[in-house]
Amino acid sequence: MKHPLDILGRIREDIETEVGAVKAKNLFLKIYRSPVLASELIDNLPSPIRVLDDGFGTKKVLWKLSDGKNVESVLLPQVGRHRTLCISSQVGCAMACEFCLTGKQGLSRHLKTSEIVAQVLLMSRDTKITNLVFMGMGEPMHNFAAVRRACHILRDDYGLNFSRRQITISTSGLIPGILALAEEKFASLAVSLNASNDSIRSQIMPVNLKYPIHQLIDALKVYVKKTRQRVMLEYVLLDGLTASKNNALELIELIQDLPCKINLLPWNEHSSARFQRPSEDTVDNFATILRSSGISTTIRQSRGRNILAACGQLASASNTI
Ligand code: SF4
Repeated sequence: MKHPLDILGRIREDIETEVGAVKAKNLFLKIYRSPVLASELIDNLPSPIRVLDDGFGTKKVLWKLSDGKNVESVLLPQVGRHRTLCISSQVGCAMACEFCLTGKQGLSRHLKTSEIVAQVLLMSRDTKITNLVFMGMGEPMHNFAAVRRACHILRDDYGLNFSRRQITISTSGLIPGILALAEEKFASLAVSLNASNDSIRSQIMPVNLKYPIHQLIDALKVYVKKTRQRVMLEYVLLDGLTASKNNALELIELIQDLPCKINLLPWNEHSSARFQRPSEDTVDNFATILRSSGISTTIRQSRGRNILAACGQLASASNTI
């Protein structure tokens, strides 16, 4: 027997083949646009077992799934007219990035499409969400089929109606997923780069052993050519490892022919990692070097550090909160 929540994992075109276009459209409107949640969903949606607020607009919600496992979503503070929700695609993660709390716990399981869509549906009940980022728990390209389906549902005109540019998939560098997204163009792309050469990247991101940095950059050039969209590169600044002047110069050379923007993320400390946060001067110098070579560069203001909701700090084990 199907679980009532499975309806959130169904795209409208599939429902249409069973009940016709009008009923499928009305069902979508009832689920996604009605001010009152459909009664069959109320008792079956993931339940928030903990909600933490940092007092500055960041809200982290820990969800309990039907099998008892937990995932997290983070609502980031409003910036201008933007209100961004960071969602999870897996329980845990197999990628084992050294700097990431989620990576420490390994992969427990993929999320179903319905569990991805449910995070957005529930969080959008009392907040107007303008942007979605797959930067919560998990590597979205490792759960590609469910993520693709979720994006299709989230973009439906009769559903939550997000545009491609409003949804960003962030990957640690799984090249097959990047190339598939280049073909299908259902979301924007961000890549967690975090290093300027193979030696450093392989130390902190084991995925680099399978997909080395130059192959990754080549795949991103294919993505840019096919989509005509720049790539967002995320770069974690780790003191003494990725944040020096030489690191910046090497990074400039690596990405010289790649249309991209760089978002610098000064490291957020947590007890289970060995890294240090660089000083503000080090961060500013790194950004200045990139900007002086013409690279569009931003520095992420880490909100939510006091509730472990910043990048690399999500983990579903509630004892980490
Ligand atoms: S940074 Fe992303 S890909 Fe890497 S371990 Fe954490 S959740 Fe997985």
